[in-house]
Amino acid sequence: MSLFRDDGVVLRAQKLGEADRIITLLTRQHGKVRAVARGVRKTKSKFGARLEPFSHVDVQFFSRGSELVGRGLPLCTQVETIAPYGGPIVTDYGRYTAGTAMLETAERFAENEGEPAVQQYLLLVGALRTLAAGLHESHLVLDAFLLRSLAVNGYGASFTDCAKCGLDGPNRFFSLPAGGVLCGDCRVPGCAVPSPETLVLLGALLSGDWQTADACEPRYWREGSGLVAAYLQWHLERGIRSMRYVEK
Ligand SMILES: [Zn+2]
Repeated sequence: MSLFRDDGVVLRAQKLGEADRIITLLTRQHGKVRAVARGVRKTKSKFGARLEPFSHVDVQFFSRGSELVGRGLPLCTQVETIAPYGGPIVTDYGRYTAGTAMLETAERFAENEGEPAVQQYLLLVGALRTLAAGLHESHLVLDAFLLRSLAVNGYGASFTDCAKCGLDGPNRFFSLPAGGVLCGDCRVPGCAVPSPETLVLLGALLSGDWQTADACEPRYWREGSGLVAAYLQWHLERGIRSMRYVEK
């Protein structure tokens, strides 16, 4: 039997029996971890409140085996809040729907329990912090998170240089299978031809250029969100269910 300590973001909390919950976390060192939190529904314990979705927490786990993941679900034995992002997120519909889509996406990309997904973890923490602070439109924070999540999982899109031959941008023809824009020579049937402004926006979201993204006209936000959703759908076998609730 072993004790483990890790910090993580609560992705989900499911009922287990009368009083317990199964908590799904994306942790810094162990990737996705599911653990049992006992008695959190019976008492109005701070322990339970700390394990709500969106919370960034420091958790001590008690595992039956020598690994955290593998021999039955570990127990959460101690929880400290690092940042309670849930508060400012669940009270605002736009933030809540964007945040929910982030949690679902993070879980899908970190599907294998116990397998570290450090970059995905860092992206999620950063995106929740930005979302909770309310500094940018929620759907932009979501789209930036989705594009970067795709990138750290090997599906980085190109929005300027040709994704096939590398020709300097701007290029106009957007192809999902090619992973970005294509030049006139490389274009294939079925390319979308988004507005140049939309491609600038998507490049800005991917690189973290908020000044450009915030100043972009809303109609390009909408076109950009459509392309991001289609690109995400292309790479994830099943779509992200919560995406349909996101306000555009
Ligand atoms: Zn080309």
